[in-house]
Parts: sequence; C-alpha cells; structure tokens
Amino acid sequence: MQTVIGDAQLEFLEDLRSYLDDLDPDLVEATRRENIEDPMQPREHGRRFLRRLAADGRLGVSWPTEHGGQGRSELEHWLFAEELYSRRLPNGLLTLNVVGPTLALMGDEAQRAEYLPQILAGDIVFAIGYSEPDAGSDLAALRTRAVRSGDEYIVNGQKMWTTGGSVATHYWLAARTGAPEDRHRGISVFIVPMDAPGITVTPIITQGGERTTAVFLDDVRIPVSQRIGGENEGWAAVVCALNFERMFFHNEPRWELRQLADWAAAADLLEGDTAAAHSLQETIGEHAVDVEICRLFALRGASMLTEGVVPMAEASANKIWWGELRQRICDTGLDHIGVTGTIAHGSPHAPAHGHLEHGLQSSPVWRFGGGTNEIQLDIIAEQRLGMPR
Ligand SMILES: Cc1cc2nc3c(=O)[nH]c(=O)nc-3n(C[C@H](O)[C@H](O)[C@H](O)COP(=O)(O)OP(=O)(O)OC[C@H]3O[C@@H](n4cnc5c(N)ncnc54)[C@H](O)[C@@H]3O)c2cc1C
Repeated sequence: MQTVIGDAQLEFLEDLRSYLDDLDPDLVEATRRENIEDPMQPREHGRRFLRRLAADGRLGVSWPTEHGGQGRSELEHWLFAEELYSRRLPNGLLTLNVVGPTLALMGDEAQRAEYLPQILAGDIVFAIGYSEPDAGSDLAALRTRAVRSGDEYIVNGQKMWTTGGSVATHYWLAARTGAPEDRHRGISVFIVPMDAPGITVTPIITQGGERTTAVFLDDVRIPVSQRIGGENEGWAAVVCALNFERMFFHNEPRWELRQLADWAAAADLLEGDTAAAHSLQETIGEHAVDVEICRLFALRGASMLTEGVVPMAEASANKIWWGELRQRICDTGLDHIGVTGTIAHGSPHAPAHGHLEHGLQSSPVWRFGGGTNEIQLDIIAEQRLGMPR
C-alpha cells in the first residue's frame, strides 16, 4: 500500500489554505480561542465556523456526492481535517469524522437521508456514548439496557465520559439489547436526540481541564427506525467508528513542538555554542522527527481508507504515538522552563502561554480517551502481528 500525496491533493490543500486565509478574521480568531480552550466541544463560535464552511461547500470532503459531499478521497478528507487542526480550528471531530462516515457505511437509506445532510450543513453535533462506570476497556460488559416495546426501545442506564455531551444535539448510543452473557453480540447502536425526555447530562472536569460528561438515561424512548443495523448487531458499528476516531487523533504534537521551539528561541536557549543549546536543539530535532512519524502513521491509515480498508492496527498505532509524543514534548518544555512552568494555562504569567503546561496535564487523560494505550497495544499485537487474543 502506497501513501501518495499527488498533485491533486496538493492542489486541494492549496485551495483550502487560501480559502481559510481569506475567511473573516474575527470569526477565525474567536473560534481559534474557543477551540484552544476546549478542542473537543465546538461551541458558539465553533458551530458558527462549521456552518460557514458548510455554506461554502467545504465539509464532507470524502463523502459521496449523492449525500452532498465533495466525492474526494479519504486522503483529502484527512488533509482537510489536519489543516484545520493545525490552525487550531474545529474540524467537526466526532460528528464529521467518526459518526458521519460510519453512518454512511452502516446506516440504512432513511438514516443516511435524514442525518448526513444535517451533518454536512453543520446543523447537528454528535456525542458518543459507549463507556459506562463498569465498562470501558471491556466495553462488551456495558449494561445500559434498551428493551423493545412495539415500535420503540425504552432505554435505561448510565454512560460515563461522554465528551461533548453538554453541547451535542444527538447521541450515538450503544446499549444492550441482548443478554449480558452475549457480550458484544448483544449490543445495538442508536441515534437519540440529546434533548429526548429522560436524558440528563452532568459535567465532569478531568485533569488538565478537559471537559467531559456523565449521561443518565431514564426511560428514554427511541424509535426502532433509529437503530443502526440489526438488533444485537451494533458491535460492527462501534468498532468501525472507533477506528475512524483513532485515525483522527491529529497532529497536535506539531503544535506543542512549535510552542516549545518558540519559547526556547524567545528565552535565548538555542543561541551560542554551548552544550546546553546543542542538547536542546538536538532534543527538539528528535521530537520533530517523531512528529513526522506521527503524520506518516496517520497518512498510512488515510491511504488505507482511500482504498476502502478500515485501518485497525494503524489507527491504534497513530493514537498511541500521538498521545505519548505530545507528553514527551511537553515534558521537555517544562523541564527546561523550570518552576515557572507549573503556572497554569489561563494565567498571563504562564510561559509558552501555558500550552505546554496544559499539554502535559491533559496528556495522561488522553492515554484513556479513544481507548487506553494498553488496549491499543493488544490490538496491534493481534491485528498486525497475528498474535492470539
Ligand atoms: C478525556 C476522555 C474522553 C473520553 N470520551 C469518551 C466518549 O466521548 N465516549 C465514550 O464512550 N467514552 C469516552 N471516554 C472513555 C474511554 O474510552 C475510557 O476511559 C477507556 O475506554 C478506558 O475505560 P475505563 O476508563 O473504564 O478504564 P479501565 O478499562 O477500567 O482501565 C483501567 C486501566 O486498566 C487497563 N486495562 C484494562 N483492561 C486491560 C487489558 N485487558 N489489558 C491491559 N490493560 C488493561 C487500562 O489500560 C487502564 O490503564 C473518554 C475518556 C476520557 C479520559
């Protein structure tokens, strides 16, 4: 399998960059600030920004034209998401990059017709409800129960770590429709409006300030038409969506590295023929190589998607490398900044605008988000190396 960015992709990227450069600077700046503060939840400006892109026909890069997309390759979709990410602008994270493509593959005609245009218009935002208090890595243990009653399911249970739960309009929900011992063969996936009666969302603030939520479901009624695929056959949609999600852990380490390099240059740490300056330059150079490796992992996955293969081990490798590298880069920064490095982001006195402090604080959290790194290692061992489960 080749990873090729050819003339068509470069042209696409150039056009996208000049479009973004020409966008209303007030909208871009407000969105950027909001997004740096909390990249996982497009709020007021993020929603406005995505709607603007939608109105200009910029969303749905790889989606089929019959669903209102641009009909381009997954590689171009990935480049689009990366470009926005690198500018610290929202790229439609879970909605456009995870739920949308999974729905396009696994939803029925009516579901595609109902939701895909709304996603492409920037009108709806999804949160994802898999994890529960006693079901995280072992997701097949989930207990939120959906019981069929005529043309509806009645759902009861609790979800944990639903990121974006307080701003989402819709929920991509995994619930048990079979017996607990059926494990992953007894799970169905549904789409539910977040304002459906019986849904309560409470905030959870994690280390580093990343926001997520707990969601309680009490007698929530979901029409059968909102089930994705057959009853008890939701696991395939969960796995597919998770692999899309791990592919879109993005090249954030490039941003952290920029912060580190800019801070070191401003602090004159790279100047002069000293052992310390050489050593820091070398470390920054090593991180830069690792940032490129991170991008290659992701590009490889994007190329596979272009060829119709959902990346498994590749998505896991991308996710691990991304998270660990981000932590290493921030670590280097704070080691060199010293004690003032602990001044929290948000303070005007925080060195490197607090980005490295924030990155280091939130890094351990992201070893969990999207599935823990230990579980990703298992997936790589099984899928890539053919080792037994
Ligand atoms: C910031 C953030 C955002 C999140 N967003 C969402 C979201 O939007 N939607 C959603 O559904 N979930 C979300 N999650 C939940 C995330 O997917 C889970 O945290 C993750 O799957 C781990 O589950 P757990 O927290 O229950 O930990 P556990 O599964 O209890 O794991 C605890 C520790 O044990 C290790 N462990 C467990 N099983 C094994 C094993 N078999 N082999 C080796 N080690 C193992 C884990 O690696 C981990 O270190 C989010 C989590 C975070 C932190």
